[in-house]
Parts: sequence; structure tokens; C-alpha cells
Amino acid sequence: MRAIACVSGVDLLMDYLEGVLPADVKQALEEHVAGCPRCAAFFASYIGTPRIMREATAVTLPADVEASLKAFLRARTSAFRSS
Ligand SMILES: [Zn+2]
Repeated sequence: MRAIACVSGVDLLMDYLEGVLPADVKQALEEHVAGCPRCAAFFASYIGTPRIMREATAVTLPADVEASLKAFLRARTSAFRSS
């Protein structure tokens, strides 16, 4: 059994997330994280990030909204300049 140090490596975590860790290492890592709030939080933040990124990038403005927004900003800018 290989001992897992406390969040010793992002590499190990990445390997875990990619599912390329040997079964015994994977199990040791899971057992450590299960009993370590610090590592659990670390894991959660890493596992959550790709999902958050996808949700953020999924929000794209429709072309007409973008056009009207740009027109609005142009109007505001010119109004600001003339005052
Ligand atoms: Zn830990």
C-alpha cells in the first residue's frame, strides 16, 4: 500500500481525474481524501472547475443582443463626450 501525502501533487490529482492511476494508488488516494477535509475541499474545487468553466463559456450573447448592446454603449459614449 502506497501512502498518500496530504495533497502532495496536482499531478496525482490530474491522473486520478483522468482515471489513469493504478487501482491501489487510486484507492489509497480516495481513502486519504475521505478522511481529510483539506484534501476533500481541494479535490472538490478541482473537480468543480471544468463544470464551472463550461457553464461560463456557454453563456454567449445572441447576435442581436450584442448589436443592440454595442449601439447602446456607443450612444452612451457619444453622449458622455458631448456633455
Ligand atoms: Zn490530506
